Amino acid sequence: MAQLTVDIGGRPGIDCRGFCEYCYFKKVRDVQAFGCRYCLPFKKGCDYCSRGVKEKYSGFKDLKTIADETLATLQSTRDDLSKVTISGGGDPSCYPRFTDLIELMGSTGAPLHIGYTSGKGFDDEKIANLLIDNGLSELSFTVFATDPRLRKRYMHDPSPDVSLKVLERLCDAVDVYAAAVVLPGINDGKILERTCEWLEHRGAKGLILMRFANRTEQGLILENAPILKGQRVHSIDEFRNIITDLSNRFSMKISGTPLWDPEIGSPFAIISEPDLIDKLPRIQRRASVVSGNVAAPYIDKVLKARGLTSPIIAVEKEIACLITIEDLKKLDPAGLEPTVIIPGRAFVHLKEAQEVLSRDGNERDVVRGPEVLTADAETSMGMTREQVLALEMHGFADLIRTINMYGT
Ligand code: SF4
Repeated sequence: MAQLTVDIGGRPGIDCRGFCEYCYFKKVRDVQAFGCRYCLPFKKGCDYCSRGVKEKYSGFKDLKTIADETLATLQSTRDDLSKVTISGGGDPSCYPRFTDLIELMGSTGAPLHIGYTSGKGFDDEKIANLLIDNGLSELSFTVFATDPRLRKRYMHDPSPDVSLKVLERLCDAVDVYAAAVVLPGINDGKILERTCEWLEHRGAKGLILMRFANRTEQGLILENAPILKGQRVHSIDEFRNIITDLSNRFSMKISGTPLWDPEIGSPFAIISEPDLIDKLPRIQRRASVVSGNVAAPYIDKVLKARGLTSPIIAVEKEIACLITIEDLKKLDPAGLEPTVIIPGRAFVHLKEAQEVLSRDGNERDVVRGPEVLTADAETSMGMTREQVLALEMHGFADLIRTINMYGT
Protein backbone atom coordinates (compact mmCIF):
# COMPACT_ATOMS: atom_id res chain seq x y z
CA MET A 1 0.00 0.00 0.00
CA ALA A 2 1.43 3.38 -0.98
CA GLN A 3 1.12 6.65 0.86
CA LEU A 4 1.10 10.01 -0.85
CA THR A 5 2.25 13.29 0.66
CA VAL A 6 0.96 16.33 -1.17
CA ASP A 7 3.02 19.48 -0.59
CA ILE A 8 0.87 22.56 -1.16
CA GLY A 9 3.75 25.00 -0.46
CA GLY A 10 3.20 28.27 1.36
CA ARG A 11 5.09 30.31 3.96
CA PRO A 12 4.51 30.05 7.73
CA GLY A 13 2.95 33.19 9.12
CA ILE A 14 2.43 34.72 5.70
CA ASP A 15 0.27 32.01 4.20
CA CYS A 16 -1.70 31.54 7.40
CA ARG A 17 -3.42 34.91 7.73
CA GLY A 18 -0.62 36.58 9.62
CA PHE A 19 1.65 35.45 12.42
CA CYS A 20 0.24 34.02 15.60
CA GLU A 21 1.70 35.94 18.54
CA TYR A 22 3.79 32.92 19.59
CA CYS A 23 4.88 31.77 16.12
CA TYR A 24 8.53 30.69 15.97
CA PHE A 25 8.81 31.97 12.43
CA LYS A 26 7.78 35.48 13.45
CA LYS A 27 11.13 37.19 13.73
CA VAL A 28 13.31 34.80 11.78
CA ARG A 29 16.37 36.63 10.50
CA ASP A 30 18.33 35.73 7.43
CA VAL A 31 20.95 33.83 9.42
CA GLN A 32 23.82 32.04 7.70
CA ALA A 33 23.43 28.34 6.97
CA PHE A 34 24.21 26.28 10.09
CA GLY A 35 25.60 23.18 8.45
CA CYS A 36 23.78 19.89 9.01
CA ARG A 37 23.71 16.17 8.34
CA TYR A 38 22.91 16.71 4.66
CA CYS A 39 25.82 19.07 3.88
CA LEU A 40 28.74 17.85 1.78
CA PRO A 41 31.91 17.28 3.87
CA PHE A 42 33.73 20.21 2.27
CA LYS A 43 30.83 22.69 2.12
CA LYS A 44 28.91 24.20 5.04
CA GLY A 45 25.35 24.86 3.95
CA CYS A 46 22.93 22.93 1.76
CA ASP A 47 19.35 23.44 0.66
CA TYR A 48 18.01 21.94 3.89
CA CYS A 49 19.96 24.04 6.39
CA SER A 50 19.86 27.24 4.39
CA ARG A 51 16.23 27.16 3.21
CA GLY A 52 14.32 24.18 4.56
CA VAL A 53 14.90 24.94 8.26
CA LYS A 54 13.59 28.47 7.89
CA GLU A 55 10.76 27.11 5.73
CA LYS A 56 11.81 29.74 3.22
CA TYR A 57 9.48 28.77 0.45
CA SER A 58 7.56 30.85 -1.99
CA GLY A 59 3.77 31.12 -1.66
CA PHE A 60 1.20 28.37 -2.06
CA LYS A 61 1.53 26.29 -5.22
CA ASP A 62 -1.32 26.79 -7.65
CA LEU A 63 -3.88 24.03 -7.88
CA LYS A 64 -2.77 22.96 -11.36
CA THR A 65 0.79 22.37 -10.16
CA ILE A 66 -0.50 20.36 -7.20
CA ALA A 67 -2.77 18.33 -9.51
CA ASP A 68 0.07 17.67 -11.98
CA GLU A 69 2.48 16.62 -9.23
CA THR A 70 -0.12 14.37 -7.64
CA LEU A 71 -0.97 12.73 -10.95
CA ALA A 72 2.71 12.16 -11.77
CA THR A 73 3.26 10.45 -8.40
CA LEU A 74 0.13 8.36 -8.78
CA GLN A 75 1.21 7.21 -12.25
CA SER A 76 4.55 6.02 -10.93
CA THR A 77 2.91 4.05 -8.09
CA ARG A 78 1.45 0.63 -8.78
CA ASP A 79 0.17 -0.07 -5.26
CA ASP A 80 -3.18 1.07 -3.92
CA LEU A 81 -3.10 4.30 -1.95
CA SER A 82 -3.51 3.81 1.79
CA LYS A 83 -3.44 7.48 2.71
CA VAL A 84 -2.99 10.97 1.30
CA THR A 85 -1.37 13.53 3.60
CA ILE A 86 -1.70 17.24 2.85
CA SER A 87 1.28 19.23 4.09
CA GLY A 88 3.11 22.47 3.37
CA GLY A 89 4.82 25.51 4.86
CA GLY A 90 1.57 27.49 4.86
CA ASP A 91 -1.61 26.51 6.63
CA PRO A 92 -3.86 24.26 4.48
CA SER A 93 -7.01 25.95 5.88
CA CYS A 94 -5.81 29.19 4.27
CA TYR A 95 -5.23 27.66 0.82
CA PRO A 96 -7.10 29.98 -1.57
CA ARG A 97 -8.88 27.18 -3.46
CA PHE A 98 -9.39 24.96 -0.44
CA THR A 99 -12.65 23.39 -1.64
CA ASP A 100 -11.15 22.45 -5.02
CA LEU A 101 -8.03 21.12 -3.29
CA ILE A 102 -10.03 18.87 -0.98
CA GLU A 103 -12.26 17.63 -3.79
CA LEU A 104 -9.18 16.88 -5.88
CA MET A 105 -7.59 14.89 -3.05
CA GLY A 106 -10.92 13.23 -2.25
CA SER A 107 -11.09 11.97 -5.84
CA THR A 108 -8.11 9.66 -5.11
CA GLY A 109 -10.50 7.67 -2.90
CA ALA A 110 -7.85 7.30 -0.17
CA PRO A 111 -8.27 8.48 3.44
CA LEU A 112 -7.06 12.07 3.82
CA HIS A 113 -4.80 13.31 6.57
CA ILE A 114 -4.11 16.97 7.24
CA GLY A 115 -0.73 17.07 8.93
CA TYR A 116 -1.21 20.50 10.46
CA THR A 117 -3.77 23.26 10.41
CA SER A 118 -4.55 26.17 12.69
CA GLY A 119 -8.09 26.37 11.31
CA LYS A 120 -7.64 30.13 10.90
CA GLY A 121 -8.75 29.87 7.30
CA PHE A 122 -12.11 28.26 8.09
CA ASP A 123 -14.76 30.95 7.68
CA ASP A 124 -17.68 28.68 6.88
CA GLU A 125 -18.98 25.83 9.04
CA LYS A 126 -19.83 23.79 5.91
CA ILE A 127 -16.10 23.17 5.48
CA ALA A 128 -16.37 20.38 8.06
CA ASN A 129 -18.81 18.38 5.95
CA LEU A 130 -16.77 19.01 2.82
CA LEU A 131 -13.78 17.44 4.58
CA ILE A 132 -15.77 14.50 5.92
CA ASP A 133 -17.44 13.84 2.57
CA ASN A 134 -14.06 13.77 0.87
CA GLY A 135 -12.61 11.15 3.17
CA LEU A 136 -10.80 13.12 5.89
CA SER A 137 -9.76 10.55 8.48
CA GLU A 138 -7.14 12.34 10.58
CA LEU A 139 -6.34 15.92 11.37
CA SER A 140 -3.93 17.80 13.58
CA PHE A 141 -5.54 21.08 14.64
CA THR A 142 -3.83 23.86 16.57
CA VAL A 143 -6.49 25.00 18.99
CA PHE A 144 -4.44 27.21 21.39
CA ALA A 145 -7.57 27.56 23.54
CA THR A 146 -11.24 26.89 23.03
CA ASP A 147 -12.01 30.40 24.24
CA PRO A 148 -12.69 32.25 20.97
CA ARG A 149 -11.41 35.55 22.40
CA LEU A 150 -8.02 34.00 23.06
CA ARG A 151 -7.88 32.47 19.58
CA LYS A 152 -8.64 35.88 18.14
CA ARG A 153 -6.14 37.72 20.32
CA TYR A 154 -3.20 35.27 20.11
CA MET A 155 -3.74 33.50 16.79
CA HIS A 156 -5.38 36.40 14.97
CA ASP A 157 -8.13 34.06 13.89
CA PRO A 158 -10.68 36.37 12.17
CA SER A 159 -13.58 33.96 12.75
CA PRO A 160 -12.75 31.90 15.88
CA ASP A 161 -16.35 30.80 16.47
CA VAL A 162 -16.56 29.24 13.03
CA SER A 163 -13.14 27.57 13.39
CA LEU A 164 -14.27 26.04 16.67
CA LYS A 165 -17.56 24.86 15.12
CA VAL A 166 -15.57 23.15 12.37
CA LEU A 167 -13.30 21.58 14.98
CA GLU A 168 -16.31 20.41 16.97
CA ARG A 169 -17.89 18.69 13.97
CA LEU A 170 -14.59 17.08 12.99
CA CYS A 171 -13.95 15.79 16.53
CA ASP A 172 -17.20 13.89 16.20
CA ALA A 173 -16.43 12.34 12.81
CA VAL A 174 -12.67 11.87 12.38
CA ASP A 175 -9.50 11.34 14.45
CA VAL A 176 -8.63 14.81 15.71
CA TYR A 177 -5.36 15.48 17.50
CA ALA A 178 -5.42 18.97 18.92
CA ALA A 179 -2.29 20.96 19.70
CA ALA A 180 -1.54 24.05 21.75
CA VAL A 181 1.56 26.07 22.46
CA VAL A 182 1.26 26.83 26.18
CA LEU A 183 1.88 30.41 27.28
CA PRO A 184 2.03 30.67 31.08
CA GLY A 185 -0.58 33.09 32.38
CA ILE A 186 -2.42 33.14 29.04
CA ASN A 187 -3.76 29.70 28.07
CA ASP A 188 -2.55 27.49 30.94
CA GLY A 189 -4.28 26.87 34.30
CA LYS A 190 -8.07 27.04 34.26
CA ILE A 191 -8.15 27.98 30.56
CA LEU A 192 -6.19 24.86 29.70
CA GLU A 193 -8.47 22.72 31.85
CA ARG A 194 -11.49 24.12 30.02
CA THR A 195 -9.78 23.47 26.68
CA CYS A 196 -9.20 19.84 27.71
CA GLU A 197 -12.82 19.46 28.86
CA TRP A 198 -14.11 20.95 25.62
CA LEU A 199 -11.96 18.66 23.48
CA GLU A 200 -12.64 15.50 25.47
CA HIS A 201 -16.35 16.13 25.53
CA ARG A 202 -16.42 16.51 21.74
CA GLY A 203 -14.40 13.38 21.07
CA ALA A 204 -10.87 14.56 20.27
CA LYS A 205 -8.39 11.68 20.29
CA GLY A 206 -5.64 13.62 21.98
CA LEU A 207 -3.98 16.90 22.82
CA ILE A 208 -0.31 17.70 22.36
CA LEU A 209 0.93 20.56 24.48
CA MET A 210 3.99 22.41 23.31
CA ARG A 211 6.15 24.19 25.81
CA PHE A 212 6.67 27.75 24.63
CA ALA A 213 10.32 28.66 24.02
CA ASN A 214 11.45 32.28 24.25
CA ARG A 215 15.22 32.07 24.54
CA THR A 216 18.01 30.63 22.42
CA GLU A 217 18.91 27.91 24.93
CA GLN A 218 15.28 26.77 24.91
CA GLY A 219 15.58 26.08 21.20
CA LEU A 220 15.23 29.31 19.20
CA ILE A 221 18.09 29.11 16.74
CA LEU A 222 17.08 31.55 14.02
CA GLU A 223 18.13 34.69 15.91
CA ASN A 224 14.47 35.29 16.64
CA ALA A 225 14.51 35.36 20.45
CA PRO A 226 12.54 36.60 22.27
CA ILE A 227 9.36 35.80 20.40
CA LEU A 228 7.23 37.51 23.07
CA LYS A 229 9.08 40.11 25.11
CA GLY A 230 8.65 39.53 28.83
CA GLN A 231 6.65 36.32 28.39
CA ARG A 232 7.33 33.80 31.13
CA VAL A 233 8.18 30.24 30.12
CA HIS A 234 7.44 27.02 32.03
CA SER A 235 10.47 25.23 33.42
CA ILE A 236 10.85 21.67 32.16
CA ASP A 237 9.67 20.29 35.53
CA GLU A 238 6.68 22.62 35.72
CA PHE A 239 5.67 21.63 32.22
CA ARG A 240 6.06 17.94 32.92
CA ASN A 241 3.88 18.28 36.04
CA ILE A 242 1.14 20.02 34.06
CA ILE A 243 1.06 17.11 31.61
CA THR A 244 1.05 14.50 34.38
CA ASP A 245 -1.77 16.25 36.19
CA LEU A 246 -3.95 16.72 33.11
CA SER A 247 -3.42 13.24 31.82
CA ASN A 248 -4.54 11.84 35.19
CA ARG A 249 -7.75 13.81 34.95
CA PHE A 250 -8.75 13.23 31.33
CA SER A 251 -9.19 10.05 29.35
CA MET A 252 -8.08 11.42 25.96
CA LYS A 253 -4.37 11.20 25.43
CA ILE A 254 -2.48 14.27 26.69
CA SER A 255 1.22 14.53 26.06
CA GLY A 256 3.79 17.28 25.75
CA THR A 257 6.84 18.26 23.83
CA PRO A 258 9.79 18.33 24.49
CA LEU A 259 8.39 16.06 27.18
CA TRP A 260 6.43 14.05 28.10
CA ASP A 261 4.07 11.17 27.18
CA PRO A 262 2.84 9.71 30.50
CA GLU A 263 1.01 6.83 28.84
CA ILE A 264 4.18 5.53 27.19
CA GLY A 265 6.77 6.92 29.61
CA SER A 266 8.70 8.61 26.81
CA PRO A 267 10.99 10.27 26.04
CA PHE A 268 13.38 7.51 27.07
CA ALA A 269 10.79 4.95 28.19
CA ILE A 270 13.72 2.51 28.20
CA ILE A 271 14.89 3.98 31.52
CA SER A 272 12.27 1.92 33.35
CA GLU A 273 13.14 -1.27 31.43
CA PRO A 274 16.44 -2.58 32.89
CA ASP A 275 16.00 -5.94 31.10
CA LEU A 276 15.95 -4.19 27.76
CA ILE A 277 18.96 -2.03 28.65
CA ASP A 278 20.80 -5.29 29.47
CA LYS A 279 20.21 -6.47 25.91
CA LEU A 280 22.12 -3.52 24.43
CA PRO A 281 25.75 -4.16 23.39
CA ARG A 282 28.49 -3.50 25.96
CA ILE A 283 30.55 -0.35 25.49
CA GLN A 284 34.22 -1.17 24.85
CA ARG A 285 35.70 2.26 24.19
CA ARG A 286 35.65 5.85 25.39
CA ALA A 287 34.08 8.82 23.64
CA SER A 288 32.49 12.11 24.70
CA VAL A 289 28.81 11.93 23.85
CA VAL A 290 27.36 15.45 23.51
CA SER A 291 23.64 16.02 23.96
CA GLY A 292 21.00 18.57 24.91
CA ASN A 293 20.30 19.53 28.46
CA VAL A 294 17.02 17.61 28.67
CA ALA A 295 18.19 14.32 27.15
CA ALA A 296 21.68 14.15 28.71
CA PRO A 297 20.74 12.64 32.13
CA TYR A 298 18.69 9.87 30.45
CA ILE A 299 21.45 9.04 27.98
CA ASP A 300 23.96 9.04 30.81
CA LYS A 301 21.93 6.49 32.74
CA VAL A 302 21.55 4.08 29.81
CA LEU A 303 25.15 4.30 28.62
CA LYS A 304 26.63 4.01 32.14
CA ALA A 305 24.60 0.82 32.55
CA ARG A 306 26.32 -0.53 29.41
CA GLY A 307 29.80 0.33 30.64
CA LEU A 308 30.51 3.89 29.46
CA THR A 309 33.29 5.32 31.59
CA SER A 310 33.45 8.82 30.06
CA PRO A 311 30.88 11.48 31.10
CA ILE A 312 28.00 12.63 28.88
CA ILE A 313 28.50 16.27 27.93
CA ALA A 314 25.35 18.40 28.20
CA VAL A 315 25.33 21.70 26.31
CA GLU A 316 23.23 24.62 27.49
CA LYS A 317 20.67 24.10 24.69
CA GLU A 318 17.75 22.07 25.94
CA ILE A 319 16.92 20.28 22.70
CA ALA A 320 19.65 18.04 21.22
CA CYS A 321 18.37 18.33 17.61
CA LEU A 322 18.76 22.12 17.82
CA ILE A 323 22.41 22.19 18.87
CA THR A 324 24.44 24.63 16.77
CA ILE A 325 28.13 25.49 16.61
CA GLU A 326 27.54 28.25 19.20
CA ASP A 327 26.68 25.55 21.75
CA LEU A 328 29.87 23.63 20.96
CA LYS A 329 31.94 26.81 21.29
CA LYS A 330 30.85 27.06 24.91
CA LEU A 331 32.31 23.63 25.76
CA ASP A 332 35.77 23.43 27.25
CA PRO A 333 37.75 21.13 24.91
CA ALA A 334 40.04 20.14 27.79
CA GLY A 335 37.26 17.96 29.21
CA LEU A 336 36.68 16.09 25.95
CA GLU A 337 37.86 12.67 24.79
CA PRO A 338 39.74 12.32 21.46
CA THR A 339 36.41 11.20 19.93
CA VAL A 340 33.33 13.38 20.28
CA ILE A 341 29.89 12.15 19.19
CA ILE A 342 27.28 14.82 18.49
CA PRO A 343 23.52 14.24 17.94
CA GLY A 344 22.77 13.06 14.42
CA ARG A 345 20.44 15.97 13.70
CA ALA A 346 22.56 18.74 15.25
CA PHE A 347 22.78 21.84 13.05
CA VAL A 348 26.54 21.71 12.87
CA HIS A 349 29.00 21.18 10.02
CA LEU A 350 31.37 18.41 11.08
CA LYS A 351 34.51 20.13 9.80
CA GLU A 352 33.71 23.30 11.76
CA ALA A 353 32.86 21.24 14.87
CA GLN A 354 36.20 19.50 14.57
CA GLU A 355 38.03 22.86 14.46
CA VAL A 356 36.09 24.28 17.40
CA LEU A 357 36.53 21.20 19.59
CA SER A 358 40.25 20.88 18.77
CA ARG A 359 41.08 24.50 19.54
CA ASP A 360 43.18 23.53 22.58
CA GLY A 361 45.72 22.02 20.16
CA ASN A 362 44.57 18.40 20.62
CA GLU A 363 43.14 16.97 17.42
CA ARG A 364 39.66 15.46 17.99
CA ASP A 365 37.45 13.36 15.77
CA VAL A 366 33.85 14.54 15.65
CA VAL A 367 31.30 11.95 14.55
CA ARG A 368 27.53 12.15 14.13
CA GLY A 369 25.51 9.76 16.26
CA PRO A 370 22.06 8.35 15.39
CA GLU A 371 19.32 10.74 14.30
CA VAL A 372 16.92 9.72 17.04
CA LEU A 373 17.27 8.04 20.40
CA THR A 374 13.66 8.44 21.46
CA ALA A 375 10.25 9.70 20.35
CA ASP A 376 8.93 13.15 21.21
CA ALA A 377 5.20 13.61 21.80
CA GLU A 378 4.44 14.39 18.17
CA THR A 379 6.06 11.12 17.14
CA SER A 380 4.74 9.00 20.01
CA MET A 381 1.16 10.25 19.58
CA GLY A 382 0.42 7.52 17.05
CA MET A 383 2.70 4.84 18.54
CA THR A 384 2.41 2.05 21.09
CA ARG A 385 4.83 1.73 24.02
CA GLU A 386 6.39 -1.31 22.31
CA GLN A 387 7.03 0.70 19.15
CA VAL A 388 8.67 3.51 21.12
CA LEU A 389 10.83 1.02 23.03
CA ALA A 390 11.88 -0.64 19.76
CA LEU A 391 12.84 2.78 18.36
CA GLU A 392 14.87 3.57 21.48
CA MET A 393 16.62 0.18 21.46
CA HIS A 394 17.53 0.72 17.85
CA GLY A 395 18.84 4.25 18.52
CA PHE A 396 20.92 3.28 21.57
CA ALA A 397 22.35 0.18 19.87
CA ASP A 398 23.42 2.44 17.01
CA LEU A 399 24.98 4.96 19.41
CA ILE A 400 26.91 2.22 21.21
CA ARG A 401 28.15 0.81 17.89
CA THR A 402 29.36 4.32 16.99
CA ILE A 403 31.23 4.60 20.31
CA ASN A 404 32.78 1.16 19.81
CA MET A 405 33.76 1.90 16.24
CA TYR A 406 35.18 5.46 16.59
CA GLY A 407 36.05 5.67 20.29
CA THR A 408 39.49 5.20 21.76
S1 SF4 B 1 -0.57 29.11 12.13
FE1 SF4 B 1 1.35 28.15 12.73
S2 SF4 B 1 2.85 28.76 11.15
FE2 SF4 B 1 1.04 30.12 10.96
S3 SF4 B 1 1.56 31.91 12.17
FE3 SF4 B 1 0.44 30.52 13.52
S4 SF4 B 1 2.02 29.30 14.54
FE4 SF4 B 1 2.98 30.29 12.78
